[in-house]
Amino acid sequence: MRIDILTLFPAMCEAVLGESILKRARGAGLIEINCRDIRAYTKDRHNRVDDSPYGGGYGLVMQVQPICDCFESLCEELGRRPRLIYMSPQGRTLTQQRVKELAAMDNIALLCGHYEGVDERVLEEIVDEEISIGDFVLTGGELPALVLADSITRLQPGVLSADEAFEKESHFAGLLEHPQYTRPFEWRGREVPEVLISGHHANIERWQRERSLERTFNRRPDLLEGAELSDKDRTFLDTLK
Ligand code: SAM
Repeated sequence: MRIDILTLFPAMCEAVLGESILKRARGAGLIEINCRDIRAYTKDRHNRVDDSPYGGGYGLVMQVQPICDCFESLCEELGRRPRLIYMSPQGRTLTQQRVKELAAMDNIALLCGHYEGVDERVLEEIVDEEISIGDFVLTGGELPALVLADSITRLQPGVLSADEAFEKESHFAGLLEHPQYTRPFEWRGREVPEVLISGHHANIERWQRERSLERTFNRRPDLLEGAELSDKDRTFLDTLK
């Protein structure tokens, strides 16, 4: 899969993409993520990419020309038009389900706004979808684009050691994950649940499933409606009510 990030701050994105699992995944060719500098496409002789809003008001708005030229040059280079997603607090809130769908695509492009956002004609002309990472406002779309790129990358085959690594995680199948422990067995009087060192795989699995159901019931009961539940799960949930 290939992701192209259209941004005024490519170095900010590269700093994150050049670390840890994202770096390894890119290096191993499991995903291609490129940053494209919108400023390189401005036709303004002073290199400007923004201007004050029509109608007055605070701040600056990113202009339509550099953004559209940047995206069109990408399409030309690729010989196809990738789905363009504008990272925006006005978009639909990102979910693991949408991440799964996007992770199955061959190529997407992410547009990062900055300042007061982008000229509305960008949305009309080239944007296919708007995605928000939550009901709060950040200074720019770079962090949201990196959040999306990260969540997509970890679902690419080979990025994590086993599919199970993400299949059991929070939100993948509609539940929150069970608690996790590592060495030491005892710390400040707190011990790891005995079942986890019993070596009895069926009991460990049942314990993990029940803790996962319990956590979801206590913290995010809204998720249970969409989760895949067995009869055994439902019986257990009834004991919590
Ligand atoms: N004036 C815009 C509004 O009120 O809707 C907010 C602009 S915000 C300060 C600047 C940029 O940050 C946006 O264009 C968008 O790309 C990005 N951004 C901010 N919050 C975001 C969020 N919750 N999810 C996704 N992108 C966000």
